[in-house]
Amino acid sequence: MAAAGLNPYLLEMANIREQCSWVHHDKDKATDKAIELIGLSVAKARYDRSLKPIRVPVTRRALVIGGGVAGIQAALDIADSGYEVVLVERDPSIGGKMAGLSETFPTLDCSQCILTPRMVEAGQHPRIRLYTYSEVEGVDGFIGNFKVTIRQKARYVDMTKCTGCGECSKVCPLKRNPSEFDYGMGMRPAIYMPFPQSRAGPAGDR
Ligand code: SF4
Repeated sequence: MAAAGLNPYLLEMANIREQCSWVHHDKDKATDKAIELIGLSVAKARYDRSLKPIRVPVTRRALVIGGGVAGIQAALDIADSGYEVVLVERDPSIGGKMAGLSETFPTLDCSQCILTPRMVEAGQHPRIRLYTYSEVEGVDGFIGNFKVTIRQKARYVDMTKCTGCGECSKVCPLKRNPSEFDYGMGMRPAIYMPFPQSRAGPAGDR
């Protein structure tokens, strides 16, 4: 397009090779589809406008949604590459499903031996900010300039002061709540840690 002196953003492409000739055996129907695809592209091209590339500043920070082992590893990889990461997990601790496993297939390695060091690293990494017991409520903006709304659910514990000593769980009078970590098969107090190795933040405190 540019070589022909036209604005390159006026190009529309109907891919009748991948979407018709390579994937269909019925030639007549594939031809009908190709005609339709071309018609669609022609119709769209009528509304195309010339565009000019612009440069916009990019926020060099990543959001990772979900603090299971995949999210933890993604956050660590990005943070180790030198970028800030916000890691959002809806449960009270990162760890996800892997925290509930005993061994992993096929090597039967102990799952906590793989997961716990990564959880600790994510919890203490200077470039990772943990938001546990939190959910993403909205995403606005565009690539490099997203604005994300995160709702932190009430924990009723000041996480900047909590040391994780567990004394509150021992004296809590309400001990008959089904434990989410045990899929309801065990009971937990009203104030609790989901599992002994849990990591909650903020900003990597615990
Ligand atoms: S674990 Fe409970 S008792 Fe211990 S510091 Fe945290 S809130 Fe306080």
